[in-house]
Amino acid sequence: MPATVGVAKPRSPETLRDIAHRGAADMAGASAEELITWSVAEFGDSIVATQSMVNTTLTTLVASIAPSIPVVFVDTGYHFAETLDTLERVRARTELTILSVSSHLTIEEQSAQHGPDLWSRDPDLCCSIRKVQPLEEVLARNDAWLTGLRRDAAGARRDTRPIMYDVKRNVVKVSPLLDWSDDDLAAYTAQHSVEVNPLIHQGFPSIGCHPCTRAVAPGEDSRAGRWSGFEKTECGLHQ
Ligand code: SF4
Repeated sequence: MPATVGVAKPRSPETLRDIAHRGAADMAGASAEELITWSVAEFGDSIVATQSMVNTTLTTLVASIAPSIPVVFVDTGYHFAETLDTLERVRARTELTILSVSSHLTIEEQSAQHGPDLWSRDPDLCCSIRKVQPLEEVLARNDAWLTGLRRDAAGARRDTRPIMYDVKRNVVKVSPLLDWSDDDLAAYTAQHSVEVNPLIHQGFPSIGCHPCTRAVAPGEDSRAGRWSGFEKTECGLHQ
């Protein structure tokens, strides 16, 4: 079901683009905490955060700085049990509004339309149906999108900036953790007892849907376990 957070966008694309440009200039060098504070001051109730339930630092920061921001989890129907358990632990631990959104198509309906195990033949289409479309429905009702993107963890394009205008989704995209290193994330996680997906400690440094994620061997790239055997490296949410 699509989430119901947000309303019709109150600002025009030109206004959102201007806010992004101004914000990028004003907030150059800002900390993650400052970027979240700026975001909620600028966008009020027209902003959502997304969280993949791998390392939930972004949600922890939102809970402490701007708990009015809803957190969205895209439930593809193919998540590991450990991922869904992490979601429930975060729900229990915070008073945040946490919304699971999913495709209009059940996996059975998708299989009927496109054949079984679409992920094994056309993962781009599967990700589009199960991940990208549900999130874009949420973003269509909001002016800003808080993401947990980090350059060190890939998924971020080279030209990604902490505050930027996403032309495709017509939202201001804010990535407070963009320049955090792995060490920065580990330090914050330990200091704040951040909920993490236990699979991280079982050879899964990057975690997506179970059909498209495998454990990596020591020395292998941390993203090597995602869509193994395909050229694909990103689900499409950040393209
Ligand atoms: Fe489908 Fe795999 Fe993408 Fe999940 S990661 S939506 S199973 S292709």
